[in-house]
Amino acid sequence: MTAPKTSWVESANDGQTHFPLQNLPYGIFSPAGGAPRVGVAIGNQILDLAVLDDAGLLPAAAKGAFAAPSLNRFIALGKPVWTETRERVTALLSADDSKLSGDAALRGKALVPMSAATLHLPVEIPGYTDFYSSREHATNVGRMFRDPENALLPNWLEIPIGYNGRASSVVVSGTALHRPNGQIKLPNEARPVFSPCRKLDYELEMAFIVGKPSNLGEPVSTADAPAHMFGLVILNDWSARDIQQWEYVPLGPFNSKTFGTSISPWVVTMDALEPFRRDNPAQSPEPLPYLQQQGRNAYDIDLEVALQPEGAAAASTVCRTNFKAMYWTMAQQLAHHTVSGCNVRIGDLMGSGTISGTTSDSCGSLLETTRNGAEPVTLADGVKRGFIEDGDTVIMSGWCQGDGYRVGFGEVTGKILPAR
Ligand code: MN
Repeated sequence: MTAPKTSWVESANDGQTHFPLQNLPYGIFSPAGGAPRVGVAIGNQILDLAVLDDAGLLPAAAKGAFAAPSLNRFIALGKPVWTETRERVTALLSADDSKLSGDAALRGKALVPMSAATLHLPVEIPGYTDFYSSREHATNVGRMFRDPENALLPNWLEIPIGYNGRASSVVVSGTALHRPNGQIKLPNEARPVFSPCRKLDYELEMAFIVGKPSNLGEPVSTADAPAHMFGLVILNDWSARDIQQWEYVPLGPFNSKTFGTSISPWVVTMDALEPFRRDNPAQSPEPLPYLQQQGRNAYDIDLEVALQPEGAAAASTVCRTNFKAMYWTMAQQLAHHTVSGCNVRIGDLMGSGTISGTTSDSCGSLLETTRNGAEPVTLADGVKRGFIEDGDTVIMSGWCQGDGYRVGFGEVTGKILPAR
């Protein structure tokens, strides 16, 4: 059986939309005046699954899971229910199916223009972990902050390095954030100053959302890891570089990262990403046995970052890269995370680490692109940026390029307001 390629929702078929029939990502939205509920993005519309559930058109096993302010209840039902729901929604939106398209009253209730809806954080996030899995990013940062001759620390090629982030300040795309204040150690000063951050940056990352919990004390193998993933979002790990540089030894980043982390509103499922799996990157030395993997765990996702200063007519692209070049895969990250016996929970957010390529126009942070501010990027109208200034909006987007269609993530945007 091959999936039908077109939908009766016309905007899903133009080849450019991030949300064709092949995608069907889940999110949480409110229609004007309505309560938050589960929706699926299709073209420039949102399909209201709570309405379809009330009409008896969704799987009985998912009954009641969609009139909810997060995806967690639906995710907890497990992979067979995710698959059955995806098949039902695919059929209901297909051009050759009239059950929904032929029912004008129901169709009018179930389809909401995306422009008329408010999007919310899609999952309730019990924990957020951030990894550091791009060899190019780790090398660039090591060169600048430590030793150009030994840019990669000796543990980097053995461990998918990570740290426990802060879940309480994960926000959905469109949420403005204030520039953080903190301790900054200036050169030639004996003690730090307390000041608004002067080197505010973004980090372009992907993140997976845990869909199946694990038990305390029981490691998840690389082979089992994909079954624990519900889907992916784009993640902007906002970073205050000057605060980070002073605080990060010995326990890693703290205030420099915890003031906010932005994610895209639509969760693209592992099922939708299946055609875009690629071979794993070569790894040398061979990882320890618990990190070795058999399946294909890399994903071909084109990514872009753009900057738009306050009042600028358009955003300027400052980075183009791809997720498939990451050294450590998500399966290895989850195996490493749980190998000690640490359990994971439904909704846990696992950031990939900054995704950088080998050239300055493929770096996933301004720290790298501008070499710590020394070589500013030039935006439209000749505006220059070493780091993010107040009023700037950062826009990240990503998509998998199929044959005549895109499976996309939409955007994660965030504007920086002045420090309080
Ligand atoms: Mn990060």
